[in-house]
Amino acid sequence: MTSYDCITAERLSAGAIARISMDRPEVRNAQNRQMLTEIDQAMTAAATDDAVKVIILAGTDPMFSSGHDLRDYPRWLADPCDVTGGVDAELRETAAGFARPGAEGYMAFEEQVYLGLCRRWRELPKPTIAEVQGKVIAGGLMLAWVCDLIVASEDAQFADITLDMGVNGVEWFAHPWELGARKAKEMLFTGDWVSAQDAWRLGMVNHVVPREELARRTLALAERIATKPTLALKLAKKAVNQTQDIQGFWTAQQTAFSLHHIGHADMRERGLMPGLPVPPRADGG
Ligand code: ZN
Repeated sequence: MTSYDCITAERLSAGAIARISMDRPEVRNAQNRQMLTEIDQAMTAAATDDAVKVIILAGTDPMFSSGHDLRDYPRWLADPCDVTGGVDAELRETAAGFARPGAEGYMAFEEQVYLGLCRRWRELPKPTIAEVQGKVIAGGLMLAWVCDLIVASEDAQFADITLDMGVNGVEWFAHPWELGARKAKEMLFTGDWVSAQDAWRLGMVNHVVPREELARRTLALAERIATKPTLALKLAKKAVNQTQDIQGFWTAQQTAFSLHHIGHADMRERGLMPGLPVPPRADGG
């Protein structure tokens, strides 16, 4: 099996379950470009391995994920062609405009690395389960939300603090679908934590379990699902996802993403994004 630097990937239950775990505990599983690329590689390997029936996405303790690794940004914006160990060469092949200055390059990057990968993972033809503990912040939400099911520990809590960064929410804007419109607005407006119990009550997570039982209970759920026919699982997943898409899920996502980049552009123009160069203004102001 391929070895990775930022994640671990293993096969459990005689190969029927693929377990992918973010493994950067020193930065609370912050998502740098390399980690997202490795998750994509591991997801693809699991999806194309006919023995695998269910995929679990987890994060090494103490928390599921603290979101995007913002230390990637200044370096990337200073040199958009900088790649991390060459692992995102595949991403660059299809991303038009990564190296373009201004909002064009920034949007192309997030379009592919955040929105694009998330959509791809949501559409994987096999059931996915997020195994979530501790804090889940902003970009961390998107990795939990793209999974079909979420099992959370009792101490799990969820927050999107990106309004303080001048945008409408994290790139994968599923908040209204996950929490309902009213709670989604409160979560965004305040940046407050949503507890595991509230998330369960609102239908955002499937099960809340004691922390020490999280891995075992998630695996047990995966093993039950793995007894079902492969094609029927794929069709059931597709039927639910397409129902959401017909209701406007994907169209709304793209609209929210466009708004997100108005927010980014505004902050950048006003020099309010730390570490980012301020583009010169035509009027010299
Ligand atoms: Zn963004």
